[in-house]
Amino acid sequence: MLAIVVGIISCKNEPKEEIISDEIALEEEKEIEKYEFGFNLNDFIVVRDTIRRGDSFGQILERNKIGYPQIYNIVEKTKDSFNIARLQEGKPYTLLCTKDSLQLPTCFIYQPNKEEYVVVNFQDSIHAYTNKKPIKYVEKEATGTIAPGSSISQVLDEQGLSQRLAFMMADDIYAWTIDFNRLQEGDEFKVIYTDKYIDDSTYVGVHNIKAAYFEHNKEPFYAFEFETDKEKGFRDYFSEEAKNLRRAFLKAPVQFSRVSSRYNLKRRIAYYGNRVRPHRGTDFAAGIGTPILATANGTVTKSSYTRGNGKYVKIKHNATYSTQYLHMKNRNVKVGQFVKQGDVIGWVGMTGNTGGPHVCYRFWKNGKQVDPFKQKLPEAEPISDSLKAEYLEFIKPIRAQLDGIEFLREKLEIKIDSTKILDNQILVEDDLITEK
Ligand SMILES: [Zn+2]
Repeated sequence: MLAIVVGIISCKNEPKEEIISDEIALEEEKEIEKYEFGFNLNDFIVVRDTIRRGDSFGQILERNKIGYPQIYNIVEKTKDSFNIARLQEGKPYTLLCTKDSLQLPTCFIYQPNKEEYVVVNFQDSIHAYTNKKPIKYVEKEATGTIAPGSSISQVLDEQGLSQRLAFMMADDIYAWTIDFNRLQEGDEFKVIYTDKYIDDSTYVGVHNIKAAYFEHNKEPFYAFEFETDKEKGFRDYFSEEAKNLRRAFLKAPVQFSRVSSRYNLKRRIAYYGNRVRPHRGTDFAAGIGTPILATANGTVTKSSYTRGNGKYVKIKHNATYSTQYLHMKNRNVKVGQFVKQGDVIGWVGMTGNTGGPHVCYRFWKNGKQVDPFKQKLPEAEPISDSLKAEYLEFIKPIRAQLDGIEFLREKLEIKIDSTKILDNQILVEDDLITEK
């Protein structure tokens, strides 16, 4: 802001000085090397554009003063590493042109996605290759307090933080320990997370949450991400005591669904003259075709059809628990097949006796159907004994870092300018930069 004001003033009063300072600025800019796609962009005239409807590789080069024989030559020599037919409308491309009066293109760079780019270099020897832009992870911290009548989404929104943080905490980390629909006024959280950037500058989103602390109803819940299988890259969240925060069962067999009818042994239905028709399942309403997920690891014991159930699947998880999924549009598993938690076993439909698209989820314990929401579900696999000591050592500094983060309300008690505090000081602290 200040710089602009100064600029205007000097324009009016001392126009000559303004020009001189402009030249200095240009001179300075030249000295800063600007690398992108592995080239120093200062060495070229850079033309950026996007592939337009009907554009072909040849047309683009032709528009930029490359003659047909050379285009043919380029296509022939690069066809093994670059398929010119793959250019997609709307994708960006860059031409690096000579810095002389001819401004001839020497390089065509195509970006099929945010991370990758294809270089067709015809400066000297013609060649093409695909490369990835450098990815940078920046560690950040955030904190928030649930105000009366506000949700975690609002708290994040007010601070300009990604909603993904809320999803990750609600669905991945605390899905089994904290009900995010019933947060209390005064509940507080702290998170240490990493943001992902491509090429230093393009923000792609929250990459992962490294650790979190959630105080719900005055009860503290720590969560630390830890790799339990380096070979397979398995990661999970554990408490400060190395307990797995995940349960052996998912909370719901469909994502983004709503419970349309709960387990209820005293259910009365008007249609049946208000007689008691117990509902031994939990209905999750979701659109037809929504994937249905196995809520835990197990073996498929049934994959069949009855008039009431429609197409359904039953999975045996261990000697105690089985689960059953009704009214599928289609099934995706066979009897005897081993499935893992989260595997797609079928799709939501309305086969059998049902009034609308939903999954009727039946939870069997020792041969009886029970309410899954009333069960104290078994924990997912704990950290192995051999890793436990390593884990406890690993979380020490992270826990110290978490404990060191001050809650927003503590900061706000020093009321200087709350908006400035939000932007600059507490929430976005670039502590550590790691490159991968
Ligand atoms: Zn049902």
